Amino acid sequence: MSSQEQPRLDQNPPSASQMQHLATRLQHHPYQPPEGFSAVEPGVHHASTVLFANVAAMRARDWRSKAGYTYGLHGTPTTFLLEERLASLDGARHCLLCPSGLSAITLIDQALLVQGDHILLPANAYGPGREFAERLLAGWGITHSLYGPLATAEQLDALITPATRLIWLEAPGSVTMEMPDLRGLAAAAKARGVRTAIDATWAAGIALQPFDLGIDIVMQALTKYQSGGADVLMGSVSTRDDTLHEALLFAHMRLGLGVCGDDAAKVLRGLHSLPLRYHAHDAAARRIATWLQAQPQVAQVLHPALPGSPGHAFWARDCSAAAGLFSVVFRDEIEAAQVDAFVEALHLFKIGYSWGGPVSLAVPYDVQAMRPAGRWPHKGGLVRLAIGLEDAGDLIADLKQAMQRLLI
Ligand SMILES: *Cc1c(COP(=O)(O)O)cnc(C)c1O
Repeated sequence: MSSQEQPRLDQNPPSASQMQHLATRLQHHPYQPPEGFSAVEPGVHHASTVLFANVAAMRARDWRSKAGYTYGLHGTPTTFLLEERLASLDGARHCLLCPSGLSAITLIDQALLVQGDHILLPANAYGPGREFAERLLAGWGITHSLYGPLATAEQLDALITPATRLIWLEAPGSVTMEMPDLRGLAAAAKARGVRTAIDATWAAGIALQPFDLGIDIVMQALTKYQSGGADVLMGSVSTRDDTLHEALLFAHMRLGLGVCGDDAAKVLRGLHSLPLRYHAHDAAARRIATWLQAQPQVAQVLHPALPGSPGHAFWARDCSAAAGLFSVVFRDEIEAAQVDAFVEALHLFKIGYSWGGPVSLAVPYDVQAMRPAGRWPHKGGLVRLAIGLEDAGDLIADLKQAMQRLLI
């Protein structure tokens, strides 16, 4: 006990708790703040240990139930609130939070697949999720095949085997931005009794309602638009089906997945402005993509909402908005090194992975190396742009000055 501590104790009549030593009193302070506190933000709860009133209450607790609390990993008021709000956003009944978008993908695979199973992935699937299938699932005796980004229902059907348990969808696909025929693919899977899961990160619960198209599981990288701050990693898995949710919940728990209250609070705060931000990103991205289409250095702009982009008709049929993410393919004669120089000449666009945050980003990709041989028609370099919340005119001016390095 410090010497400064002593006088304060002397001034007050000692209570039962003050008779205990400082080390104990610091852990068991009697003060309880008044109930009835109400604020816009719901407060952040942190817990590994959750306290029970008595042994009977502890024994009666069911970790699967959201009627109470069992252990930090099984949920706190903060994580339950976020799960419920995300379930509403996705039009789901259930939602589970994961520590990253990638862990949400791998949770779905691990929850639903066993040795001997087969899955289908689009050739433009999020790269790390595909690598999970190539490396880890393969090692566990779970095989996969790739289908073309614009595969028809018939083409997908032809790849389904009696061992196929899960078909992954992604709308649009990563980097090359093809919008698939979600309705057709979901119907083909359903007709063969195979479950579908979609990586719907781009739509963020705003542009597309996957459950209404017959898809069984919706996965989101909340790291992107739901957070919006470029400062938190999180993923979610939503379902309407109770049995499916039970399987996912069990794997979620036994894999030890959980998120921290501070991160959940950041995403909760991001959700307030999600629709406003999403539509602002959308409007700016379409303006910039349209400007880029008219530049002589550009062979094609891959943005699902632009006519002529692969899968545009499916976007027009199924989507009500678009994200601020798209790719630019340069003309064949522009060397890869020039494309890199273009990216480095940008001032407002920063070089970095991820998207959905306030700052615009540019990343060059070697698509020939990412796709099965002979499948990607372009020779020119590709740059993916994530449009942030800067003024669209300023971003165009930035692109324009960097484009001057590519004069042809
Ligand atoms: C970013 C991203 C992910 C992974 O999210 P992380 O939180 O970075 O793990 C998954 N899918 C898509 C389409 C993404 O863009």
